[in-house]
Amino acid sequence: MAATITAIQMHKALIGLCDTIEAQKDYLSELDGAIGDGDHGVNMAKCFRGVREKLHMGDPSDVGAVLNVVGMEVMNSVGGAMGALYGTLFMRLAMTAGNKPDVGLDDLVAMFQAALEGVLSIGKAQVGDKTLVDTLSSAVTALKTAAQEGKPLEEALSDFDIAGQKGMASTKDLLAKMGRASRLGERTIGHQDAGATSCYFILQAFAQAPHV
Ligand code: ADP
Ligand code: MG
Repeated sequence: MAATITAIQMHKALIGLCDTIEAQKDYLSELDGAIGDGDHGVNMAKCFRGVREKLHMGDPSDVGAVLNVVGMEVMNSVGGAMGALYGTLFMRLAMTAGNKPDVGLDDLVAMFQAALEGVLSIGKAQVGDKTLVDTLSSAVTALKTAAQEGKPLEEALSDFDIAGQKGMASTKDLLAKMGRASRLGERTIGHQDAGATSCYFILQAFAQAPHV
């Protein structure tokens, strides 16, 4: 049988994400401080503390339910663009997973494709605008390709991780076209985007999710 990530494993991975965001709080704010207002780490940490509390309220019945808990909390607790963007990402993942007890590679492709489309339609950023879209889009393309090539889940998740990392790193040399950073124009070149970085941490949690 093909490998899957169960609802319990997804739950564990998402609690791990809350730990990562907490640990990376200062780094994310530092990145945002160079070309933005320096609040990205604080915004994310505050939000994911709320997510952790909600996740600890119980074991999930299915994959959609656990992702929905995250999506609702993110949507409600972060102010501004981030709440809507990451809220949409998790809500789309949840909706597409539905009440499945576990998800395999084809499910993950559909989930992340829907999440990417949601983020693009809400934020209107394109690849190359120096945002979290650069990370997300790169990772989703790699996941799709891996599935088309018939790779096993393990390898597809590794491709997803590496491509997300590449997308994140690519923002360093780009000129910001969206959000607060866009006001600084040329001065944004040479700095990695904060949202592209937090997006990588999110994707990494999925890539490293325990699976059977
Ligand atoms: P704010 O810009 O309100 O201070 P944050 O600092 O929490 O919010 O988040 C900034 C990040 O949001 C940026 O690094 C960028 O990756 C992302 N971002 C901003 N605008 C958009 C957009 N329209 N689409 C996608 N991502 C965006
Ligand atoms: Mg900011």
